[in-house]
Amino acid sequence: MTGNPAQSLQRLKQHFAQRVINQARLVLELWQNLSSTQWGQQELVEMREAAQRLLRYAERFEQPVHVDIATQLLDVLLAIEGNGNRLSSATIETMTQLLQQLLQTGLRQGEGIGQIFLPTMLRKPIYIALQSAEQAQHLAAQLQSFYLQVCVFTDGAGLLAAMTKRHPALNIIDIDFFAENYGLELARRLQSEYESSVPILFYSQADVAAQVRLAAVRVGGQAFFTGDIEAANVLEKIEALTSVTQTEPYRVLVVDDSKAQALFTERMLNAAGIVTRIITDPTLALAELLDFNPDLIILDMYMPQCSGPELAKVIRHNDRFVGVPIIYLSAEDDLDKQLDAMSEGADDFLMKPVKSRHLVATVRNRAARARDLKARIVCDSLTGLYNHTHILQLLDDACSRAQKTGTALCFVMIDIDHFKHVNDSYGHPMGDKVIKSLALFLKQRLRRTDYIGRYGGEEFAVILPNTDVSSARQVMNEIRQRFSEVRFSEQGQELSCTFSAGVVLYDGQLDSAQLAALADQALYAAKHAGRNQVAVYTKAAELPPDAGY
Ligand code: GH3
Ligand code: MG
Ligand code: MG
Repeated sequence: MTGNPAQSLQRLKQHFAQRVINQARLVLELWQNLSSTQWGQQELVEMREAAQRLLRYAERFEQPVHVDIATQLLDVLLAIEGNGNRLSSATIETMTQLLQQLLQTGLRQGEGIGQIFLPTMLRKPIYIALQSAEQAQHLAAQLQSFYLQVCVFTDGAGLLAAMTKRHPALNIIDIDFFAENYGLELARRLQSEYESSVPILFYSQADVAAQVRLAAVRVGGQAFFTGDIEAANVLEKIEALTSVTQTEPYRVLVVDDSKAQALFTERMLNAAGIVTRIITDPTLALAELLDFNPDLIILDMYMPQCSGPELAKVIRHNDRFVGVPIIYLSAEDDLDKQLDAMSEGADDFLMKPVKSRHLVATVRNRAARARDLKARIVCDSLTGLYNHTHILQLLDDACSRAQKTGTALCFVMIDIDHFKHVNDSYGHPMGDKVIKSLALFLKQRLRRTDYIGRYGGEEFAVILPNTDVSSARQVMNEIRQRFSEVRFSEQGQELSCTFSAGVVLYDGQLDSAQLAALADQALYAAKHAGRNQVAVYTKAAELPPDAGY
């Protein structure tokens, strides 16, 4: 295709834009890989090459923010190299910070809304092989409205051919696709002939025997759906099966009276991308806990000022730290003494000398589980979003960060329009489905650095760091538009829903409660103006006296 010069310049720009995005993703992926491996010479080289390429593309496409981040990344990598290729807590934190910035960066030149933020959606498509073509099309349309790429297949050959070209993020296969039990056969072939490890989500219209479920597991089935297949459920699974790991590194407090021993432990943990802090005086532990907020504590057994078990008791007496795992790392080899120590609220006992792999695996497992438990406390069970209390806490934190860094911050309140009507006309389960879908929609669309909460029944709250009012309004409007296009269906009934939103810009003064009140005010202005719209709070635009609220 030959276009006019302006068009081809535009295409060239888009091409480079995509390159910058892809390269930024690669850098992020490399760093995330560290959560399951150890840092070494090879990782350093790979990361440096990726950062250099990012710098090059960013320069060519004139993306100053990316140029800046890539340059800083290369500086840190140089510092790591100067430290014998070893990571330290400081370099891990700087790297994490830079990569979080990268995650937040959009392309300046982006025309479409899709380029304002680095898209968080999946890069890879989803393959659908369902028995019913109609059902497949319906599901595909739903997933597409969540910004996912989808390919629908009508026979096994088509799917197999596609697999040789490109692996999807997920295969959705009907047990009876094409012919009875052919779905299982197809999955078996994917596994053996194509050596595919792509997760499979099996589907069956009718319920199946336990043997079939077992067979599904054996050929790589990660989930099994029966009956109505809904985008919301599928998305939930996709999220769980493909979720990228934590970007926040684990934090470990090491308490040991021997500095040398503590440094040795630190080195092993740092190599695994774990941030550490050392204290040699256990009496300082509580203050340090408050300040450092670790995911896990490593304790020595015998210290002159106070013993490990004594310190464990003190820590456990403090409500805030009841859930923080404590692991002993000691030369004590008397099993009875180990057990006694464990009885004071500790979680594990590792004997010195400990193998690096053993220590790292223990720390990662325990810390992951502790984070998971904590997440259950701060999250809403229906949607998995932060609950009311926690989103306001996060808002407080985000406000003080915004103030410190002098960056813009927006807070948004969302309320589904005429939701009572949904419940009344379609039933409560349908209402729940709509709430869940909106939650997923927000998660899909917003950046990973944004915070999303379920504020109340059908009300949501969103914190947008590093975002000015016009971007916030634009993003929310785009989500509002797309959400209104989603069709929800259950047992032959179809409906669509809209929401209204109120946006407020943090002005450096207000606390979270006041900010929430102003966002609420904007929200009600949006409702009053006819719903299905986004309103921004401005001092000048107080509600009219006859607004009736
Ligand atoms: P408006 O456009 O003014 O927001 O109208 P509305 O009907 O959405 O507002 P209203 O606040 O009067 O009604 C909200 C309804 O949401 C009432 C409540 O029963 C329902 N609701 C709250 N939480 C849930 C939930 O978890 N699940 C379901 N299905 N319904 C819920
Ligand atoms: Mg309401
Ligand atoms: Mg409502």
